[in-house]
Amino acid sequence: MRPAPFQYVRARSALEAAQMLGHNPGARILSGGQTLIPELTRRAVTSPLIVDLKTARGMDTAHWEDAGLTIGALCTLSTLEAVVAQRPHARYLQSALAMTASPAIRHRATVGGTVALASSTSELLVALLLGTTSCETVDADGNIRTRDLNEFFTTRNVGDAEVLTTVRHTPPDGAAALDEYARQSNVPADVVVGVVSGFETNLLHTVVGIRGRLPTYASRHPGDPYVPRHVASAWSHDAIAERLITRLAHAGRH
Ligand SMILES: Cc1cc2nc3c(=O)[nH]c(=O)nc-3n(C[C@H](O)[C@H](O)[C@H](O)COP(=O)(O)OP(=O)(O)OC[C@H]3O[C@@H](n4cnc5c(N)ncnc54)[C@H](O)[C@@H]3O)c2cc1C
Repeated sequence: MRPAPFQYVRARSALEAAQMLGHNPGARILSGGQTLIPELTRRAVTSPLIVDLKTARGMDTAHWEDAGLTIGALCTLSTLEAVVAQRPHARYLQSALAMTASPAIRHRATVGGTVALASSTSELLVALLLGTTSCETVDADGNIRTRDLNEFFTTRNVGDAEVLTTVRHTPPDGAAALDEYARQSNVPADVVVGVVSGFETNLLHTVVGIRGRLPTYASRHPGDPYVPRHVASAWSHDAIAERLITRLAHAGRH
């Protein structure tokens, strides 16, 4: 199989990439290429211009600042895995990354590409939604926008002429845990569930990602039952989510 013909350019910065998108309708950003290259090859996606962002400088690292994590869009999932391993309270991020694809893919796939895809069963995105996460983009005019990660799901993705540059994450208050379920062992997850439990209290916050649907959120106050029943009933077709929530809620408390 061959992709439809396209032009290929390398961007030196996120702004330059955004300008190329702005001047070329239908142009696409290439980051790790783990999803886009196969899509182009089987012509699920066609584009007149592919703008390689990997050549942009200074966007491939992640670091902790006070309590928060700042992640460059070109940071690979494996680099992020090493950075979050330094902090015991970020274990939910580490397990999310360890569950994602395979080591070879994680070595190439980027955080920017993962956020831009906005898959509801992305382990990393469910984990990021357990805390407070914002995404910074730049457009062709150099305008920088910061939006909550939730918006990338509700508005479906980064704008056509925007480049995602930075993701900022503050871990949740409380113990966070994450797990997933796949109907078959060799396919991506069907359900990804993350929970935050307060210390010696009940479930505080839940994120449920089910294939093909937007993630669902639920916040609970101490004293409420462990299982957020409105979430469980919303997904009653799939009791897996409810079982995962219950198990994770108990695990988080101990
Ligand atoms: C076999 C396989 C298994 C996988 N399993 C999982 C899994 O279990 N869980 C999971 O969450 N993911 C999984 N993935 C997805 C993978 O982990 C990456 O998230 C994904 O490939 C995107 O990252 P990338 O850097 O390769 O992006 P690319 O493929 O380069 O780009 C993906 C899309 O995002 C856009 N884009 C990329 N960067 C930016 C940016 N900075 N600004 C704006 N738009 C941008 C591109 O234009 C493109 O549309 C899997 C992928 C494969 C191939």
